[in-house]
Amino acid sequence: MLASCLNPSCNASFRYLYDGRMFTVERVVTGPDGRSAERMIEHYWLCETCSMSMKVVVENGVAKTVPIHRQHKAASAAEAAR
Ligand SMILES: [Zn+2]
Repeated sequence: MLASCLNPSCNASFRYLYDGRMFTVERVVTGPDGRSAERMIEHYWLCETCSMSMKVVVENGVAKTVPIHRQHKAASAAEAAR
């Protein structure tokens, strides 16, 4: 999972924790009986270059990269405060 940058068009390999940015994503997975739920913590990594222009989101259980919209400064600040 952490072997390389999550950006599919980037082939940077994960080497150092201080290089790039780590994203921790919590997912709630429903059990086969439809009632029990389990929390799963997953880690994704973006290299230095990609982490400056994109971030990781999970949509429908699939982690993917989305561009950071730098023009929306207020939204970014609110996000960072979380
Ligand atoms: Zn990258």
